[in-house]
Amino acid sequence: MNHLQTGIEKITDIKVDSTVFDEAGEIIRKGGLVAFPTETVYGLGANGFDADACAKIYEAKGRPSDNPLILHVADRAMIDKAATVTEMAERVLAAFAPGPVTVILPKRDEVPSSVTGGLTTVGVRMPDNDIARALIRAAGVPIAAPSANRSGRPSPTTAAAVFADMDGKIPLILDGGPCRFGVESTIVDCTGERAAILRPGAVTREMLAEVLGELAPPPVVGEKDAPLAPGMKYTHYAPLAPLTLISASRKKKYEAFCAAVREATEKGKRPGVIVSRELAEELATLVPARHIAVYGDAGDVPAMAANLYESLRYFDDVDVDVLFADTIEEKGLGVAVMNRLKKAAGGRMLFID
Ligand code: AMP
Ligand code: MG
Repeated sequence: MNHLQTGIEKITDIKVDSTVFDEAGEIIRKGGLVAFPTETVYGLGANGFDADACAKIYEAKGRPSDNPLILHVADRAMIDKAATVTEMAERVLAAFAPGPVTVILPKRDEVPSSVTGGLTTVGVRMPDNDIARALIRAAGVPIAAPSANRSGRPSPTTAAAVFADMDGKIPLILDGGPCRFGVESTIVDCTGERAAILRPGAVTREMLAEVLGELAPPPVVGEKDAPLAPGMKYTHYAPLAPLTLISASRKKKYEAFCAAVREATEKGKRPGVIVSRELAEELATLVPARHIAVYGDAGDVPAMAANLYESLRYFDDVDVDVLFADTIEEKGLGVAVMNRLKKAAGGRMLFID
């Protein structure tokens, strides 16, 4: 790919900065890429009806081409141009759109199959972020956008994180500050008899059940399981140093981290930890401050979600050889956080009780 000069435009007010959106919309219409903020993570966008433009997404990310993209729309009318909206999807959209939820629907012919990894279905999302919506409106087409990271890396939740992965590969990054939720959208398959959650997110199973009634049961994880959504078979969210999760009761947490840190140090490895503020204070005598990433106060699940990827990326530029992260209960938003943490850790988890 040609080396591009990557510009970052800080957006303070979508009206004041309207010329930036004219420029960004034109880049998209002409088949180029623009990275933009959403309430979940930053997206890497291209015209969703233009197969050549979307091919550039796969190239910039180094993403396998059978991993489908999500189409981002500004309003309900735009969905009809790309997909057939099922009854089930209408209910999900009525309750949670705009917001952090993606519905899987039968695709229309206008959507190139290269965008959906060859599937006859397409994922559609209406983001609730002013900058994302202004960009889609300026482009006038649905914007296909995966997260704006290099494939396999933690998703970006700041413009600086996008720049770290995409410098020289794309012409423009819109900077809207840190993302509100910090984990990718909930993906709900609305094509079957019963709705199925393909990826947990900020719209939780409990919230969906309120509008849909019974959902398909969560998958039982086993070695022979086929990946649920096409992208799920790939490594995801991985930091540069190998990560191990530590699952322990509140009382045993401190001891468990001390033991893990000491053992790593004895083996000549420099450990980094991702923990709550409280645990960070307790570990201060054992772990140097720059080897500690704090996600927020203990038990603050929204803060953990919002700071998760930045915590993982923090260690890109810090000399550590191994990472240990705290875990939380898998309920509500905690399901999405643990889903990402487990993938980032490649399943490595220590259980202490
Ligand atoms: P990302 O854009 O990085 O958040 O990843 C998008 C993910 O959405 C993919 O990796 C798939 O898991 C999922 N996805 C997108 N479209 C579909 C579809 N038509 N069917 C099932 N899963 C999909
Ligand atoms: Mg992604």
